[in-house]
Parts: sequence; C-alpha cells; structure tokens
Amino acid sequence: MFIKELSIKERFLNKLYRGYKNIEMNSKYFLYKNQVPLFLRLEMVNVCNSKCIFCSSHLIKDPVPAFLKDDYFYKAVDEFKGAKGRNISLNSIRGEMFIDPKILDRLRYIKNLDFEFVFCYTNGTLLHKFDINEILNSGLTEMHISIAPLIEEIYTKIYVNKKYKQLLENLRNLLKTFNESREKTVKKIWIEFRSDRPLSECLLTPDYLEYISPYVTNDIIIGALTKFDSMNGTIKEEDLLPGMEIENDETSNMSFFPCANSSSIVIKPTGDVKICGCRYLIEGHDDEFLLGHIKNNTIIELYNSDIVRKMKIKFILNGQLGLCRKCTGYGVYPFQFAQRLS
Ligand code: SF4
Ligand code: SF4
Repeated sequence: MFIKELSIKERFLNKLYRGYKNIEMNSKYFLYKNQVPLFLRLEMVNVCNSKCIFCSSHLIKDPVPAFLKDDYFYKAVDEFKGAKGRNISLNSIRGEMFIDPKILDRLRYIKNLDFEFVFCYTNGTLLHKFDINEILNSGLTEMHISIAPLIEEIYTKIYVNKKYKQLLENLRNLLKTFNESREKTVKKIWIEFRSDRPLSECLLTPDYLEYISPYVTNDIIIGALTKFDSMNGTIKEEDLLPGMEIENDETSNMSFFPCANSSSIVIKPTGDVKICGCRYLIEGHDDEFLLGHIKNNTIIELYNSDIVRKMKIKFILNGQLGLCRKCTGYGVYPFQFAQRLS
C-alpha cells in the first residue's frame, strides 16, 4: 500500500465514508439514466521516457506511439463538462504526459471549464522543459510525482533512465516554486517513492535531505510503495529489486462493492474508450474493458452501456472480469478522494 500517515480514527472514518460513497454512487448508477463517471481519465500520450521495472507500459503493443488527438480531447472534455462531470485524471496506466509539447494548452483548456479536481502523475524528469509557475497555475489541483529512493544507482535501476541529476533539479525547483507561489491552482504535491525500502529509509538519503526535505510543508505529502501489482502477470518478482514485492493479487476477499475504477472512463490516444483504464493486457487483448470509440458515441452513452452495467453487477455477484481478478488496484472508493470529501 501507498503509505499515508493517518490516525486509526481517520482510517476508520475513511473506510466508512468510502463504503457509503460507493453505495450512493452505484445506487444512482442503477436507479437513474445517464449517470456521469466519477472521473474522466485522459491518456494524453501512450509512451514514456522511462522503463520502470515495476511497469509494463513499454511492453504494451499499441498500433503507434501517439498523443491524444485534439478532436478526441476536446470532445471528451466538453461532453464531460456538459454532463456536469467534476473530476479529471491526466494519467491512465501509462505514458509521461510532459512528453506532450501541447500539455499546457490542454491543461489551460481544462482550467477554463472549471473542473473541481484535476490531477496527474508524472515522473518529473521533463518538468524543466516548462515554466514551473505555469504548471502550478495550469488548472491542475494535485500533482503526484513518481520517483525511486534518491540514490542515483537505485533510481537508475528502478526507473531505467539517465535523468537522475535533472530529476533532482526539477524536484527542488518544483517544490521551492510551489512554496513561494501565491497564484497557483495546484494545492497539493505528492512525492511517491516506488521503493526497495521503507519510507523511513527513503527520508534519510543525502539527496532527499538536500533536494526535498527543506521544502516539505503540510501541502507536500511524502509516501512510499514497496508492493507492486503484477500488471496482469507481466511483472514478476525477479524483475524487481530486493525489498520490492509483487502484491498478492488474490481477489477472493473482494467485497461486493463495485470497484471505484468501474466509475472511471478512459479516453485513449486512439479514441478508444474504456472503463477503468488501470489495467491492460499485453498485445491489445484488452477488450473486456473496451466500450467503443469516442467518434461514435458520447462518453455518457458509453458509461451507461451494458458493458459497464454488467461489470458492476459482476462485482456485486463476486464474479469479476478476468482482469479484475488479477488486479491489486481494487478499491471501494478513491482513497484520497474520500479524504478530500470527508
Ligand atoms: S514513469 Fe510511469 S509510465 Fe513511465 S515506465 Fe515508469 S511507471 Fe511506467
Ligand atoms: S479491480 Fe482493477 S481492473 Fe478491475 S476495475 Fe478495479 S482497478 Fe480496474
């Protein structure tokens, strides 16, 4: 699990709250027509500049490396806003969104439509290509930075790129500017270690102490993850470093609540629309979650289609789809999202 220090009382209240929100959300889904997804997830680009050992992104065979086409981007965002959608995620399972040279224009478009919650994941290695103040005031409300413990050798082994030194500068610049900036839409930054060691040890490395620690405030949240999803069996324990583990993907203890991600809809660069968007099968056999194409239907039609309905019913009957059965991403309701609402 991603570590976020909460008191026992906070954890209990979060759990209760998440259960309640899940029931409320899914009751509406079954009782009323034209329900709106909780999240619109936009896969801005389907390639990455890293080859993390815990990620199967580079193994997925898409027809072509691609950015999300303008037509698809605008159609999806406009429809979601028109339907009173509130939350946008700029990450799917893969891709580094700052590879997209038009990313700030797209963020500004989203900002002008005034969504409530807009978050992204980034590996932070390309932030120097942009004006940090512009990123911080781009309409994003949360940024999640995915990094390894700050030891060059370990980082390079886990993230498989040669960008460590640049990353350090980018992190310091981002955090320093975040603290100094008065005009910013980003309210929280999460620094998330994909790690071979516990959080307490990540906090002791000399580079952490120099580049991150001086800038940490209540709005900069630090966590570590040492257990990883197998990405549908494509990542094995031997691919990881000692200290990193594959999380048990047994789903037998799943509750009857439909997974929170069955309330997210994903637009891929090709215009394909999927439910969840957090799992892919290699070689493109991911049709279990494929709902259709953005050209042919509205996202509201696709979210209210039989495929999604059946998927949610399968959860209730404890007969989840194959991809869900091998997934450790199951959640009753998005964790941080529940915190934000509670
Ligand atoms: S930076 Fe993200 S998308 Fe890229 S390889 Fe690593 S985990 Fe996968
Ligand atoms: S269980 Fe996993 S694959 Fe299934 S909807 Fe949830 S996150 Fe997606």
